[in-house]
Amino acid sequence: GGGGGGAGRLEKILVSVRLRPLSDKEVARGDPAEWECINDTTIISRSTFPDRPTAPTAYSFDRVFRSDCNTKAVYEEGAKEVVLSVVSGINSSVFAYGQTSSGKTYTMTGITEYTAADIYDYIAKKGTYVENLTEVILRDSDHLKELISVCEAQRKTGETYLNENSSRSHQILKLTIESSAREFLGKDKSTTLVASVNFVDLAGSERASQALSAGTRLKEGCHINRSLLTLGTVIRKLRAFSLFTCFLLCSKVRNGHIPYRDSKLTRILQPSLGGNARTAIICTMSPARSHMEQSRNTLLFASCAK
Ligand code: ADP
Ligand code: MG
Repeated sequence: GGGGGGAGRLEKILVSVRLRPLSDKEVARGDPAEWECINDTTIISRSTFPDRPTAPTAYSFDRVFRSDCNTKAVYEEGAKEVVLSVVSGINSSVFAYGQTSSGKTYTMTGITEYTAADIYDYIAKKGTYVENLTEVILRDSDHLKELISVCEAQRKTGETYLNENSSRSHQILKLTIESSAREFLGKDKSTTLVASVNFVDLAGSERASQALSAGTRLKEGCHINRSLLTLGTVIRKLRAFSLFTCFLLCSKVRNGHIPYRDSKLTRILQPSLGGNARTAIICTMSPARSHMEQSRNTLLFASCAK
């Protein structure tokens, strides 16, 4: 939170955690809610791990969203400021990170829709297009909604059970905005600003933990695993980088050792990560005790990113 629309490269990565409600299935099997948001920034687990009595049970982020928060609130407080910087020519990305079925797609779909609506409110409805593998000139925000459901349907095609496909693939929706800078520079000047915002619905994060525990044995999922691991590394290093720039103003680290090229995902996203780009990460998690380990991994990822 805190607003502060400064468009500098020193902006930190906005990290939030969204707890979804217990699913019917989880309720049916008597799976209790293990996690609880005790205020707007802190999430705690109700019990400690018997095998790790010293592990922290409280985690703090820029924002945590209770399971009864709607996506509008998550958008307003966890993404809006970042995504709307795109209309002033600043690239940005929003990531949904979390284990399969934790609510990444649910969250990202809503955020994309709210963004489209806000952007169409903001600009004169010209020169905006969605770029994916094909470029589509958008008519309006409903058109974008249509495209998103087509993408999601394609992603799920042929799957025997829900979420299987999306747990294995990343989905990136890149919205490129061209806007006249007159508004920012004064009436007599008209420069066109072009910037993109990426909506990144990541593969299930359990894949990254599998990669860590199983080495590279799972060949098939290997690229996805590597993407998630590299993304984690890139984000951690960018975080370190911005602190560095902040305190030392050291230009030499500029091209430091940020391993964008180590995965396809980070290569694709490189123009929108680092530099003056802005990033919001929304980590989604199930409150259920049975998912405790994965949720903890998600919180650790989120802690590293912030
Ligand atoms: P993921 O993309 O992380 O695999 P989904 O977004 O598909 O997970 O969510 C799994 C299920 O949980 C879906 O049926 C979705 O509608 C539901 N769900 C997720 N988050 C919420 C939420 N915050 N409130 C209500 N239902 C949710
Ligand atoms: Mg999904």
